[in-house]
Amino acid sequence: MTAAIPFAIPFTNTYARLPERFFAPVAPTPVAAPRLIRVNRDLAGLLGIDPDWLAGPEGVAVLAGNGVPEGAEPLAMAYAGHQFGNRVPQLGDGRAILLGEVIGRDGLRRDIQLKGSGPTPFSRRGDGRAALGPVLREYAVSEAMAALGIPTTRALAAVLTGETVQRETALPGGVLARVASSHIRVGTFQFFAMRGDVDGVRALADHVIGRHDPDLAQAENPYRALLTRVIERQADLVARWLLVGFIHGVMNTDNCAVSGETIDFGPCAFLDAYDPAAVFSAIDENGRYAYGNQPGILHWNLTRFAEALLPLLAPETEDGIAVAQDLLAAFGPRFEAAYYGGLRAKLGLATVRDEDLELAGALLQAMSANRADFTLTFRRLGDAALGPEGDAALRALFADPAAYDAWATRWRARLAAEPMDPAARRAAMNGVNPAFIPRNHRVEAVIEAAIARDDFAPFHELVTVLARPYDDQPAFAAYAEPPQAHERVLRTFCGT
Ligand code: AMP
Ligand code: MG
Repeated sequence: MTAAIPFAIPFTNTYARLPERFFAPVAPTPVAAPRLIRVNRDLAGLLGIDPDWLAGPEGVAVLAGNGVPEGAEPLAMAYAGHQFGNRVPQLGDGRAILLGEVIGRDGLRRDIQLKGSGPTPFSRRGDGRAALGPVLREYAVSEAMAALGIPTTRALAAVLTGETVQRETALPGGVLARVASSHIRVGTFQFFAMRGDVDGVRALADHVIGRHDPDLAQAENPYRALLTRVIERQADLVARWLLVGFIHGVMNTDNCAVSGETIDFGPCAFLDAYDPAAVFSAIDENGRYAYGNQPGILHWNLTRFAEALLPLLAPETEDGIAVAQDLLAAFGPRFEAAYYGGLRAKLGLATVRDEDLELAGALLQAMSANRADFTLTFRRLGDAALGPEGDAALRALFADPAAYDAWATRWRARLAAEPMDPAARRAAMNGVNPAFIPRNHRVEAVIEAAIARDDFAPFHELVTVLARPYDDQPAFAAYAEPPQAHERVLRTFCGT
């Protein structure tokens, strides 16, 4: 039995008001011995939750699923999806439970969800639980993404369950409390579309418009406008991913949020050396979700979204298809504008010239051929913008330093064409080129310390450093370094 916890989270739920077939009401399953790992105090405050309460016994009981707070209406959301290209008509929250929604101090509505909180009617053969490692990874990486300024779900808290979960070995169990502007996915639309339930698709679209895009209610055709809006958000998002070297790893349509937030951090990873073909996820055998494939895959996912919306786009299917194709055509230009605009900023350019794309491409080409570290190359360009004394640290990143020299000559000529105070240029560049990303070997190390030694100090330190990715933090300079050869992480696992 879960205990009732008096009102301490200001829930105001809307998803629970949708028709019954949208979800299954289900309470979290209590765990043996909840123990708090970390509470995100700033985020709690934003949500109107007292951080001290959340970190106290009642709060931890809620976070572990041992108590259901007043006003919560726990439920598992129904969804479908395409996994690695294969149609799966029913997935749903198999190990996550939506507690409810709150309106934060900023006036924005957000979901609070527990991940790893026990079985639901959608669990299929799974145990509904999460192992500690993936909980820590999602906490650290999602919070790093937020600090980088990239739309993402957030981590509100992580707890240990005091139970083990059986994966390849027995591992400590954890629960992540996750916050999202909503957990509605492309796959949520597909759930209804795959059943021919047009009323369901419409009710969901109306809910999404009311929640995320109320301005579209006035559009001539709100559903076409919604498709366009989601295309724009997702095009911008994937551009932001590429610009920081992020690889989602499992961009199935059920892991693609219509809010435009990064969601479901499984076998995700950041590039060390620049390599467009980089794949880390152990389950991505064919490299479908490789770093450089992500824009194309997103377009594929958005095409599935358009298919789900088809009956709402026009009365006749053929007309709907024509509309969808027309709207989807905007994805490429939108992505390119965001990506190339971002690359220009990374190079310290404030104006636009045709040859800039070639210049950026030549750098990426040289980085790829010379295994140059993606993050450090761009970060150190800020120093090189001050003058050639910055070049030595950059050259050292290239297997053949002459490859950098040749490019730097062209770059400096281009910079000279738009005079700017070098210190101001460096500051602008450092504001878009992070020093600190959640490097895979660091993430693995904090997981290892937690599992092997019950030591969470490295996790806390990593999260603290990653909260200020654009600041030089000299005391933590080691966190900016790429892995040594023996530290390199070649494979990541979703570890579900
Ligand atoms: P993911 O790969 O984490 O996006 O999950 C894909 C699907 O598998 C979703 O429907 C999840 O809810 C479900 N799932 C993943 N892990 C588990 C688990 N341990 N127990 C039950 N369902 C799970
Ligand atoms: Mg998922």
